Amino acid sequence: MIPKLNSIVESIPEALSIFVNQIVYDKKSRGERVYTFSLGEAFFDIPHFEISDEAFRRGCHYSSSMGQPKLRERLSEMYQRSYGVRADPSTEILVSCGSKPILFMAMQAVLNPGDEVLVHEPGWLSYKEQVKLAGGVHVPIPYYDGVYEWERHLTDKTKLIVINSPNNPSGQLYSPKELEYLLKLAQEHGLFILSDEAYSDFLMPGDTFVSMAGVDTSKENTIVVNSLSKNMGMSGWRVGYAIAHQQVIEQLLKLNQHLLTCAATVLQDYMADHFDEILSATLPQAVETAHKRRAVQDILDDVGIGYLKGVGTFYFLIDVSSYEGETEELVRTLLMEHNIATVPGRAYGDSTADFVRFGIGVESLEDIEKCLRVIKSLI
Ligand code: PMP
Repeated sequence: MIPKLNSIVESIPEALSIFVNQIVYDKKSRGERVYTFSLGEAFFDIPHFEISDEAFRRGCHYSSSMGQPKLRERLSEMYQRSYGVRADPSTEILVSCGSKPILFMAMQAVLNPGDEVLVHEPGWLSYKEQVKLAGGVHVPIPYYDGVYEWERHLTDKTKLIVINSPNNPSGQLYSPKELEYLLKLAQEHGLFILSDEAYSDFLMPGDTFVSMAGVDTSKENTIVVNSLSKNMGMSGWRVGYAIAHQQVIEQLLKLNQHLLTCAATVLQDYMADHFDEILSATLPQAVETAHKRRAVQDILDDVGIGYLKGVGTFYFLIDVSSYEGETEELVRTLLMEHNIATVPGRAYGDSTADFVRFGIGVESLEDIEKCLRVIKSLI
């Protein structure tokens, strides 16, 4: 028998979406056609550039734990140009291995044991587990509570509010007024806002993304996290970044030094060298995906399936409350009997247990409609 393990880690479940996707991979490797609505990716055409011998040699080694200076400059320019946010690349931006570890490091950096963290549902499934691992207490806010109702979830233990706009999976985009209200709340109560902006470019023209760092220009209460994974379709590169006040970045830097050292040097250099060319190829594809989402919304309306209100990302949280059994059973039936892969809404919070997440990044509109009609017939 092995000795006792850490009880917090033991209490953490496997990520449900990854569990579903494992079954999808297994089915696909047996040659089955699986309609995949469970993946957290959109697939972009990404330009390919040569890596020179010199860049390859340089890239074989460790580099700055803040991130390669040239990449931080490109990221700073992009946040300024696209979202009007000023961030000093030498002190206010840190690059690491994807936004996942940076979100965790940010929680480690601000939470003391027992501090409460508000997360609006549907909440991306790692927030809750990361809060626990960082010694905090996860306080979910049901999806139907609008931003102006969040104050009643505050206690003298509240330390952090996590927001994700546009939201995975509902697509909800918070308005500038709502963000201003949240900043006021954070300032009055001495809180941080951790703003996960992973899907900031998946919007149709007319739906304007506002970064929390554009509202909190001093960055005293705000930590922004973003990455190449969604907006630039490069999830396998594991390159993400934080934009925050210098004093917060200094804390993240220590965590990055002790946990990861740096994101892959060769990939950071490549990204820095070709940033604008890659962005100009991927940005239109993100916008195109948002158009596709709008077309799927029309199909949902036509088929008669409800969904949570939203405008961005490449997901829907669709309402399956009329299904007679448990949502998990529906998801299982869809996957095992119809080869339709979705993710149960409970993964995103108790208040969304009667929903399933339906990602539209991979399949054609034709197949999406076909599968939605199957779902409709079951619910
Ligand atoms: N935040 C959200 C809301 C996500 O959906 C994801 C990935 N599914 C991440 C963060 C993590 O992305 P990455 O670590 O690849 O940057």
